[in-house]
Amino acid sequence: MTYDVAIIGAGVIGSALFRELGKYRLSTVLIEKENDVALGCSRANSAIVHAGYDPPTGTLMARFNVAGNKMYPKLCSELSVPFRANGSLIVALTEEELPQLRSLYENGTRNGVEGLEIIGSDEVHHLEPNLKESICGALVAPTGGIVGSYEFTTALAENGVVNGGKVLLNSEVVKIDKIAKDGAPLEDTKKEGYFRVTFANGNSIDARFVVNAAGVYSDVVQRLIGKERFSVTPRKGEYYILDKRQGTLVDRTIFMCPSKLGKGVLISPTVHGNLLVGPDAQDGEDKEDFSTTKKGLDFVRDMSKLLSDKVDFRDSIRNFAGLRSLPSGKDFIIEIDPDVAGFINLAGIKSPGLTSAPAIAVYAVELLANCGLDLVEDPDFNPCRDEIRFTALSDEEKAELAAKDPRYGRIVCRCEEVTEGEIVEAIRRPLGARTLDGVKRRCRPGSGRCQGGFCGPRVLEILSRELGVPRESIDKDKEGSYILIGNTKEPLE
Ligand SMILES: Cc1cc2nc3c(=O)[nH]c(=O)nc-3n(C[C@H](O)[C@H](O)[C@H](O)COP(=O)(O)OP(=O)(O)OC[C@H]3O[C@@H](n4cnc5c(N)ncnc54)[C@H](O)[C@@H]3O)c2cc1C
Repeated sequence: MTYDVAIIGAGVIGSALFRELGKYRLSTVLIEKENDVALGCSRANSAIVHAGYDPPTGTLMARFNVAGNKMYPKLCSELSVPFRANGSLIVALTEEELPQLRSLYENGTRNGVEGLEIIGSDEVHHLEPNLKESICGALVAPTGGIVGSYEFTTALAENGVVNGGKVLLNSEVVKIDKIAKDGAPLEDTKKEGYFRVTFANGNSIDARFVVNAAGVYSDVVQRLIGKERFSVTPRKGEYYILDKRQGTLVDRTIFMCPSKLGKGVLISPTVHGNLLVGPDAQDGEDKEDFSTTKKGLDFVRDMSKLLSDKVDFRDSIRNFAGLRSLPSGKDFIIEIDPDVAGFINLAGIKSPGLTSAPAIAVYAVELLANCGLDLVEDPDFNPCRDEIRFTALSDEEKAELAAKDPRYGRIVCRCEEVTEGEIVEAIRRPLGARTLDGVKRRCRPGSGRCQGGFCGPRVLEILSRELGVPRESIDKDKEGSYILIGNTKEPLE
């Protein structure tokens, strides 16, 4: 099969571009090595829609952060993704940090961030009474927000499918060749032609243009076809998620003043009503190391006490770690590869990549057009995606829905009040869930206080029933993360 555009990597960057290309009459394929979308950096981050006060003016980060931030409210409303413009507070922990607030204010204003304001200690404590007494001032960024980051990525990819795109999961790209129209190898990669993209499973597709959005592996993917231009290293960040009992401790996202290592440890409500505390920043080499460590978590906990000493870590329900894609340069790498005609790098997209994704996608379409992609608008493009969130309905609406479809009357996840109807929907949708965590990322069973202890087996049953496969074949998360191996009291083979 020959596509107009092949995108490698179904994180938020690849998925945002996939959806954006759905607005045109094109054949597009989104290629992902894992068994679901949003399994890289885009699933484990702070989920903050940054205002854009800190990236240095003139960088791609500043430009796309501010532009992306503005696109979020409409996009999330179109795609039924949870989003809240809760605003951010960047606090000065000491008098010495007050000048930093001023420079962030000035930097943000130059970047085009609206509504920035510096406030004194009294006002900080009036707005956020649970912050440390010693905090002596803050920068208020009202355009900061919070989002469901994997819901956002999944919704973008799903909307791309609804608009005619194809997603290939379990397809790790291991080889990229430049070929002529007749399929003959093309030695000179600077010449116009096609790409043959080959996967670890032996399959391949051809495409006129290729976009590298492979996150922390974007350097590896670039080197499959081009001369080495950059490297990308992982920087790990660990987190605590706390029970909803702690979810109202702060209303805004509370940041420290940024340092060389990034934005520092933050405390934030999540869109689902939990409290998020983290991350730290540990440079490493292993691009698959998502482990949490005592050292990392102790650091997060200690640092958070500088912001508030009221976080009750006994209410912690989950720890996780994410890997930032740190490019060798200081900025995002967003370019037409100078050595490979028709090959675009959206590489090393570190923070604020989640915020920037929608704006990067619009710009990437321009880059593709500059490479020669014909853009003919598709009048049938459907920007919207509906989803039923049972907890968001009124009692009357809940009763009406349950009367129509009794599966909406059966609560499977008691912590998050997720119904069987929502779980079935998450499996049956385009790009539906195939794993326990795939269901969790789409509609939240297992995200609550008991972390799936109660609902896990029931979700497994529903997956098995809906997909018509044995329970033993269902993975928890990535391929091979099996849950069951057989029946008890039966001999194992
Ligand atoms: C700790 C942390 C906190 C962050 N907080 C924020 C925040 O609050 N706000 C914000 O704006 N940004 C934040 N970010 C940054 C943001 O998460 C990233 O910029 C964004 O998720 C990057 O998306 P991506 O699509 O480039 O990468 P990814 O999501 O990693 O996607 C790349 C995909 O490519 C796939 N892939 C790799 N190699 C291959 C291959 N050979 N073949 C096929 N597929 C392949 C991977 O499996 C992966 O799914 C944070 C990041 C981290 C780690």
